Amino acid sequence: MFVLDSHCDTPSQIHRLRNIGVWNEHGHVDFPKMKKGGVDGVFFALYIPPALGPDAATSYAMELMADLSDTMDACSSQAVLVTSREEALAAQAKGLIAVFLGLENGSAIRKSLPLLRLYRKMGVRYMTLAHSAHNDICDSCSPTQPRWGGLSPFGREVVAEMNRLDMLIDVSHISDAAFYDVLKYSEKPVVATHSCCRALAGHKRNMSDEMICALAEKGGVIQINFYPVFLDDGFAARLSASGIEARGEAVEAEFIGDPSDPAKRAAWYAVEDELAAMERPSYKRIADHIDHAVSLVGPEHVGLGSDFDGISVTPSGMEDISHFSIILDELARRGYSDSDIGKIAGGNFLNLL
Ligand SMILES: [Zn+2]
Repeated sequence: MFVLDSHCDTPSQIHRLRNIGVWNEHGHVDFPKMKKGGVDGVFFALYIPPALGPDAATSYAMELMADLSDTMDACSSQAVLVTSREEALAAQAKGLIAVFLGLENGSAIRKSLPLLRLYRKMGVRYMTLAHSAHNDICDSCSPTQPRWGGLSPFGREVVAEMNRLDMLIDVSHISDAAFYDVLKYSEKPVVATHSCCRALAGHKRNMSDEMICALAEKGGVIQINFYPVFLDDGFAARLSASGIEARGEAVEAEFIGDPSDPAKRAAWYAVEDELAAMERPSYKRIADHIDHAVSLVGPEHVGLGSDFDGISVTPSGMEDISHFSIILDELARRGYSDSDIGKIAGGNFLNLL
């Protein structure tokens, strides 16, 4: 079995000076925590904030890549960068954590197919087409008014080029219309690296049953996100009523602006502690979303994409990646076979690489 988490925003945290070679009291992901959680491989997503303009987005992506490159050099006895299924399995055989790269937000290619090709050469295996704002490639699901009504003409070129480069297209975050456009124009399976089921929680970031079925029919996988807001409408309502998240955004922005300032760091940790003290859904809610997706499309098209280090709060019992294995134990308790658990744990996603 190979256990893979297809979406962690850890490069942003490395950029905020976290050393992931050691156990961190705060924070969701570091290599010791991954070992404890039995996680063999991970996609580190280079998350590009949608507020950044085209040039700033590209240079920020380079900064994240540079920080990660230094980290991987410093942690070569614990982990290794990989780009394929074979390399990931070889890393596992050597006891090393396999680290794949993803790029979250196509704004970083600055409307340039040569830049897209360069990211692929630098090891990026998937690109999330957009984040919470429309970009040159397609519409995001977040704004109320569409810009393109799906994929832009340039977005269609991006889809064709990603197919040619064997780069996975990530449909998490994009609008429903953009999702159906991607399915129409892509000649290869596409993935949702960190998305939940809309039938269980109404957030528009989640996928409808029809979308999940269409994704699976094309050979793709939905990797269930651990964010309580996407897992559970009750939590989403409590969080929104609490006002903590809006206040927390300002505190986080201060921290990002100067991560070396201990007071700003402590203020952000205090917000995280406040969120953690809320009544949160159990980690078993993740298994509910897995059950639902499996009931629609079978265990061959479902997996796990936590969104750790990109989310400010987690389900209870799943406080960080060191707890990862309990979700597999829960699936076993629910009657999944070892073979099906292996598929969901990482086998399905690895097969697409
Ligand atoms: Zn995301």
